[in-house]
Amino acid sequence: EPERVLVSACLLGRDCTYKAGNNRDSILLQRLREEGAVAVPFCPEEHGGLGTPRPPADLTASAADVLAGRGRIVTDGGVDVTAEFLAGAEGALALCRREGLRRAFLKERSPSCGCAATHVNGEVVPGPGVTAQLLGDAGIECEGVEGRQ
Ligand code: SF4
Repeated sequence: EPERVLVSACLLGRDCTYKAGNNRDSILLQRLREEGAVAVPFCPEEHGGLGTPRPPADLTASAADVLAGRGRIVTDGGVDVTAEFLAGAEGALALCRREGLRRAFLKERSPSCGCAATHVNGEVVPGPGVTAQLLGDAGIECEGVEGRQ
């Protein structure tokens, strides 16, 4: 039976980014084909109830701090969307547990999906977004993907 892996839905071509565009990544698609892995698409921000399009949002602290209640996630208009982002992260983890997914390929630099870098206080900084942090804490192997390749 082929391995099934979680993939940020925008990397698969779904128009779920905050601008209602996508980050379809043909290199990733090719790699998954070669590995014989089946992509399970998921968008944490849509799952959390944020519409598309939606305002961009930033963390105010590291994802670990946000998950521990020591930081928030706020739109560029100042609206607190922490609860929606956390619901999205928890939805991703629940999906991985339900479906037995052990690996996730996630869009780099997103406040949800970023793995090596994310957005904090208006800047791209090292460290994961909240979904990648939660999945990583649970032992899911997360890999950042650039998108649009
Ligand atoms: Fe959704 Fe993650 Fe893609 Fe953002 S990066 S659109 S949260 S799947």
